[in-house]
Amino acid sequence: MLALVRTQKRTSSKPADDLFSSHDAASLTAWLVERGETSTAAKATVMKVIRHVHTSRGEVPWSDEALAALGINKNARQKLLALSPRVSLEVASRAPSNDGSMRLLLRTRDGALIESVLIPGPARTTLCVSSQVGCARACSFCETGSHGLTRQLSAGEIVDQVRIALVEHAARGGEPPLVNLVFMGMGEPFDNLTEVLRAISLLTDGRAYDFAPARITVSTVGVADKIQAFFAGTRARLAVSLNAPDDERRSRMMPVNQRFNLEDLKKALLQYMPRTRGVLFEYVLFHGVNDSPEDAARLAEYVADIPCRVNVIPCNPGPDPTLLPPEDEAITRFLHELMSRGVTTLVRRPRGRDVGGACGQLAGAARRVLPLVG
Ligand code: SF4
Repeated sequence: MLALVRTQKRTSSKPADDLFSSHDAASLTAWLVERGETSTAAKATVMKVIRHVHTSRGEVPWSDEALAALGINKNARQKLLALSPRVSLEVASRAPSNDGSMRLLLRTRDGALIESVLIPGPARTTLCVSSQVGCARACSFCETGSHGLTRQLSAGEIVDQVRIALVEHAARGGEPPLVNLVFMGMGEPFDNLTEVLRAISLLTDGRAYDFAPARITVSTVGVADKIQAFFAGTRARLAVSLNAPDDERRSRMMPVNQRFNLEDLKKALLQYMPRTRGVLFEYVLFHGVNDSPEDAARLAEYVADIPCRVNVIPCNPGPDPTLLPPEDEAITRFLHELMSRGVTTLVRRPRGRDVGGACGQLAGAARRVLPLVG
């Protein structure tokens, strides 16, 4: 039985740092109320100050005078000045790919290194963002996972990847607008869901960045017990990385499957996903591992009763040298089998592979093989 889950306004989660961009409107309102503002005054302040910080280009005017000029009262001004409106990340290096995409290596205030990738398309530019420094999920095909988890990113550090990318994108000039965001960089977004949801809330706020929720995709390896919270907390799209049509092979590639197997995952999707939204399944193809027509038939059977599309992605070079992409004919056979069974399917060709910016290749501080371009 399907449960319809309405998007809820979150008011309780608290930012993990002093970054202004770690607050969405709800958390900043609650933060000001905790510091003596009435709810009405706090809401009025939030409306002005969110617009002020997030529509400023360059240095944000941030002083008692600048906030007074916005009509913000003295108590709120004093409290707000404890937060930092500055972008918390700096660009450590840029690695432009031959295909037009660009991997950005970014340094946090505490010296951690994370990566984002700008991917211009024919009509729109996409930014792939990271949600953690490293990752604990240890998928066998993923460079990030081979180095473990260092720490969570705060919502502000996620939003600041977008702030930096908007500047980089403007400086490159002439590319389609940056309107798509994908949480497919370093980290498992569902392992940092509170911060990810607060970042999305700010990124979709019309007073701030005004991204359309339908143009934001959050990708999980299938942390099934967070699916309900995801759909309750955002209207962004969900992508689930499947990569094998049975538990035995999936568990070998993706340890998460030992905790939440394919049946658990399907059950959670059917129970909590509003049918109007659907899910994007990602299936990375590895030569001789999961790419036979029989695998496609089993995959089609698995997704048959779930509103979805399946993106088929030939694998990129990663930490396991035995995992290779299939020949083109094998990809075509796999797609044909899926489509003949009525599955909506798309092949996603890798972008940024030559600079280690493609799926499964992001490494952050562990980047040592591929050249950095300053
Ligand atoms: S694929 Fe995603 S979840 Fe798996 S190790 Fe890599 S970053 Fe983590």
